[in-house]
Amino acid sequence: MNSRNQSFIIYILLFIAIIAMVFFTVNQQSSQVVEIPINKLATDIREGKVKSIIEDESRLEITYKNNDIRTSTKDPSTPLIAQLVELGVTPEDLSSEQISVEIKLPSPLLGVFSILSYILPFIILIGLFWFIFRQAQGSNNAAMSFGKSKARMFTGDHPTVTFDDVAGVEEAKEELEEVVEFLREPQKFIALGARIPKGVLLVGAPGTGKTLMAKAVSGEAGVPFFSISGSEFVEMFVGVGASRVRDLFEQAKRHSPALIFVDEIDAVGRHRGAGLGGSHDEREQTLNQLLVEMDGFDTDTNVIIIAATNRPDILDPALLRPGRFDRRVTLDRPDIKGREEILEVHVKGKPVSPDVDLSDIARSTPGFVGADIENLVNEAAILAARRNKRVIEHSEFMEAIERVIAGPERKSRLINENEKKIIAYHEAGHAVVINALPEADTVQKISIISRGEAGGYTIAFPEEDRMLKSRGQILSDMITLLGGRAAEEIVFNDITSGASNDLERVTKLARTMVMRLGMSEELGPMVYGKKEELVFLGREISEQRDYSEHIAEKIDTAIHSLVQESYQKAKDILNRYRKELDEVAEKLLVVESLTAAEFFEIFPTPVEKTGGIPQKIV
Ligand code: ADP
Ligand code: MG
Ligand code: ZN
Repeated sequence: MNSRNQSFIIYILLFIAIIAMVFFTVNQQSSQVVEIPINKLATDIREGKVKSIIEDESRLEITYKNNDIRTSTKDPSTPLIAQLVELGVTPEDLSSEQISVEIKLPSPLLGVFSILSYILPFIILIGLFWFIFRQAQGSNNAAMSFGKSKARMFTGDHPTVTFDDVAGVEEAKEELEEVVEFLREPQKFIALGARIPKGVLLVGAPGTGKTLMAKAVSGEAGVPFFSISGSEFVEMFVGVGASRVRDLFEQAKRHSPALIFVDEIDAVGRHRGAGLGGSHDEREQTLNQLLVEMDGFDTDTNVIIIAATNRPDILDPALLRPGRFDRRVTLDRPDIKGREEILEVHVKGKPVSPDVDLSDIARSTPGFVGADIENLVNEAAILAARRNKRVIEHSEFMEAIERVIAGPERKSRLINENEKKIIAYHEAGHAVVINALPEADTVQKISIISRGEAGGYTIAFPEEDRMLKSRGQILSDMITLLGGRAAEEIVFNDITSGASNDLERVTKLARTMVMRLGMSEELGPMVYGKKEELVFLGREISEQRDYSEHIAEKIDTAIHSLVQESYQKAKDILNRYRKELDEVAEKLLVVESLTAAEFFEIFPTPVEKTGGIPQKIV
């Protein structure tokens, strides 16, 4: 029995219970007329006050000559007349001229109802018991099937994903082409005695299309696809994860050639022996079982495992050994060309206006991964629908980019005039500093309409994607981030909490420069501090100190002076371009958001730009 049936039965039971309740109350209501004892009735009859009596089984309805209505109850075993006579009523008093006595035969329907009203509670009770019993049994069954793998199977003849659906990752596709070939024609490889890859590790940031790629491999090869997530292995009871693995491999072998996809393998495949706590044992057993299974099947089993992770650094080395996940395929964040191709995949089949320039959208979305782009196209479609358009236009795409980067607009948030002015100067400060620094990005948009957490925001993009960041660029980022706070100080001679996120990022940048990137002159090209992951705390990182107290002080001083110098530079820039700062802030107060063109009209870039990296500054 499925859960829909179960809830259906509950509804029926509830319905019956309500009917029964209504029936009882109606019954009770009719007896609200004044009840008199039968001897009072006898006296009234003798005194000639009664006009008629209706006898309904043991209930009596009495109508008086003055039209009062009373009820009474008689002994059900003796006839009414006999009872009245016993109470001193003479047959003359009951003569038909005096009084009409009507005897109602019990209505068959009423009989059914009254019987029902007796047995209904029992039926309901039995129904409830039966239901509870079924439930208990159900959970029992679930307990029995814990060890079964929860893998979902998608067979080859489903309408599946192909390589055409995965864009912008040509190298990865080429590498996986080999896996597809093997799954299609295993004999060709076996005949030559080639060792077939057993496991492929897909590595990439979240949303770069790892899951999609694994599905595409199975779709291209037309083989069944068994998918399970690493976190599903690790469940409450010890031993369950291991037996799930066993079951999963058994299923796959029965359907071979087949593909097993283990998503989020880092959930089970962390370094063994690292960490504390109960879940650790369980993970270790699961991981061991995974290794045993991978070693256990021969080259002729024709099962290939693809695992995905965004944390290859924390995987157990045993997993990466030859014969296990020895192939590694990296899915990078797409570059500008890749993003355009992914956009093409996702706008396919959607009504898009001819004015939409996909390469322009790709240029405006540095750092976006496939999932972001899918989200972007979807947001654009939603915007177009809300504007009752037939096609999605370029403006919707541009607005969708802002939504994806900064969250939806919160126009309803009430901001008083004074706060609005501070926010306007804060954002204008960021934008003016960005524009005055050669190594900072190019301003794309400034707004004081709050989005998500932020009161306002400034978006700046580089002219092109870049992989490396120079010291000068990081310093520019720091100065830019401090531009908001600096503007507040210069203009209002007071500072607000609005810069908290900026300050956090600045401090982190300074710390990274000094401790991780060796970008401080005093401390030299060295890494300070060992990062360690505390497994039992999940993602938490603790830092282990591997330097002396003396160095610690130097680090603090270096970080401090980096931030202080940047702040001073930001203030210098704003003092130099104070007129432009005022103009931008005033315009913002009127129109709330400025495009790049509107901004440059007020403040043409005074330096030659050498570019930066993408970011949103709040
Ligand atoms: P991951 O598993 O790496 O976190 P997914 O495979 O779940 O990412 O990707 C989420 C969605 O993003 C996919 O369903 C797809 O629509 C889109 N996507 C991601 N990468 C690409 C790509 N390279 N080409 C086309 N769409 C992509
Ligand atoms: Mg995924
Ligand atoms: Zn800010």
